[in-house]
Amino acid sequence: MGRPMNQDETPPVRFERVALIGIGLIGSSLAHVIRRDGIAPHISVCARTHKTLDTARALGIADSTTTDPRACVEGADLVVLCTPIGTYAAITRAIAPALQRGAIVTDVGSAKVCTLTDVGDNLPEGVAFVPGHPIAGTEYSGPESGFAELFQGRYCLLTPPPGTDPVAVERIAALWRAAGMIVEMMPAAHHDRVLAITSHLPHLIAYTIVGTATDLAEEARSEVIKFSAGGFRDFTRIASSDPVMWRDIFLNNREAVLEMLARFNEDLMALQRAIRWGEGDVLEDKFARTRAIRRGIVEAKQA
Ligand code: NAP
Repeated sequence: MGRPMNQDETPPVRFERVALIGIGLIGSSLAHVIRRDGIAPHISVCARTHKTLDTARALGIADSTTTDPRACVEGADLVVLCTPIGTYAAITRAIAPALQRGAIVTDVGSAKVCTLTDVGDNLPEGVAFVPGHPIAGTEYSGPESGFAELFQGRYCLLTPPPGTDPVAVERIAALWRAAGMIVEMMPAAHHDRVLAITSHLPHLIAYTIVGTATDLAEEARSEVIKFSAGGFRDFTRIASSDPVMWRDIFLNNREAVLEMLARFNEDLMALQRAIRWGEGDVLEDKFARTRAIRRGIVEAKQA
């Protein structure tokens, strides 16, 4: 598994010029890894605003910067899309004419089926697309929030469609392994169903519960903040995640999220019924079974 390299070691994977489209939490963290391990001599960075680009330069994680995605990818042998997934289709159409033959395009987006059409279908011949999702993050955004260790010990899921160049897939796998990640392959549709329940639904619940508290009358709301206990506090952390990124995740993983939400609603109704009818044994049994899941996560070192 990945670890910081010594200066005299050769990196496990090497690119000549990496183009990072988007340099927020994930893009900047990957840039730190590329710098730390000498994976590429040049990092070209694109963002919408000069403020973000100036910060990336000041942090020493960008060799060249531009607000034009097309200019960013010129001469790049690796392009990583690190923007909210709703931007992917337009960005891919913009960069496609400038991509060099043999380049690899990958992404870090939290939903994967949508990338096959938004990115894969818009790329020219001779350019490989390896969709990816490093499952690591915090509730913070922007280039200053990134750090190389973000990925250490976490899973990265790659969802290359059948027929993807295996050399390209292995190079992207090696990149994430260098970042310290455990890489696994799975079909995009499977990824989206798994992430709908493990990540997307929990965020939706957090946004809902914190929203409900926000809508309480002024006096009750100030007490929610003042006496904020563990459970609610954890939800507020999750619900402070980037609104644009999460809007795009729900819009682009609609089917899987709606399916999991329907199941969740049924289970919630069952608990509601148990509370109404005083069925303590039903509640206790449910809570005892869910405890085991937590134990499994701790044992898998993903806590
Ligand atoms: P972030 O911190 O909000 O950064 C987004 C970056 O994208 C910024 O540099 C922004 O530039 C740039 N950007 C936005 N729209 C753009 C456009 N049209 N053209 C060029 N650049 C644009 O986001 P993040 O948390 O790193 O998330 C990025 C991706 O990673 C998302 O697809 C998300 O699903 C995925 N992901 C996130 C997490 C997480 O926990 N955060 C975990 C795994 C995967 P400006 O600052 O100039 O606007």
